[in-house]
Amino acid sequence: MKCAPFEYVRAGSVDDVVAALAGAEGDGKILAGGQSLVPLLALRLAQPTVLVDVNRIPDLAQVRADGDAVEVGALVRHSALLTQTAHPLLAAAARWIGHTAIRSRGTAGGSVAHADPAAELPVVAIGTGATVTVAGPDGIRTIDAADLFVSALVTSLGEEEMITSIRFPLPQRWGFAEFARRAGDFALVTALVAEIDGVVRIAVGGTAPVPVRATAGEQVLADGGTAAEAATAAAADLRPTADLHGSARYRQALAAEMIRRALAQAGI
Ligand SMILES: Cc1cc2nc3c(=O)[nH]c(=O)nc-3n(C[C@H](O)[C@H](O)[C@H](O)COP(=O)(O)OP(=O)(O)OC[C@H]3O[C@@H](n4cnc5c(N)ncnc54)[C@H](O)[C@@H]3O)c2cc1C
Repeated sequence: MKCAPFEYVRAGSVDDVVAALAGAEGDGKILAGGQSLVPLLALRLAQPTVLVDVNRIPDLAQVRADGDAVEVGALVRHSALLTQTAHPLLAAAARWIGHTAIRSRGTAGGSVAHADPAAELPVVAIGTGATVTVAGPDGIRTIDAADLFVSALVTSLGEEEMITSIRFPLPQRWGFAEFARRAGDFALVTALVAEIDGVVRIAVGGTAPVPVRATAGEQVLADGGTAAEAATAAAADLRPTADLHGSARYRQALAAEMIRRALAQAGI
């Protein structure tokens, strides 16, 4: 199958993107790395009338340390996240994203906007309490990651909005564990532990339509419980559904193990 016809716009600035999306009246799509969008176009699951290529916009491919956080431009490729040293947790998570070819094209902004429930960067965004900067017809706004992910592949972004950067707080201690059936596959379960301002946060991906905070496990730790108790409580609170990869109980058991591993890596 081939893509349905579309008008191609190469944007030179964020303002160009917003104007082109506004002109498309709800039928426009941003093209970043293309690693998720192009297959959807080829299968005609997405049929935008206008495709706005953001790859030539300057200054959006930088990773900047900013006090107790790191600001990642929307066009930072997964491969660049993997090699940067400003945010070691992000580097550890990026290692798990697809294969080399996908990591060399896919972008941080695209991954967060695509909101795949099994993707790594949305879990890091939820786990660290990231904020997402967005440009749109009404100017610039910031969205807490917790308010961005609505459901599988659905975000609260407006049709004429573009993510320009994501600000990831730097954890004092962290751990990241993932299980996928084959190297490069999407995760069955991802678990993240991040201690930020003295609070241990646990986030899990792959068990719900959006990444979730495992607050039951966090509470166990806050009350002085052990890592094993926290992992058990956190997983018991998850409500995964069965799919062709395994039963709900399998995924829940996997989540408990991934949380245990992430806690151990964080030294908890
Ligand atoms: C075989 C394969 C395996 C993969 N494995 C993994 C994996 O293990 N983990 C993982 O996380 N991902 C995986 N991916 C997806 C990959 O990470 C993509 O790079 C990512 O999901 C989307 O980023 P992109 O830059 O390619 O976005 P695109 O494909 O260009 O766009 C994706 C969507 O986001 C929108 N968008 C893009 N940029 C912005 C922006 N700045 N603001 C607003 N909207 C925007 C687009 O309009 C589109 O709707 C895999 C992909 C493939 C093909």
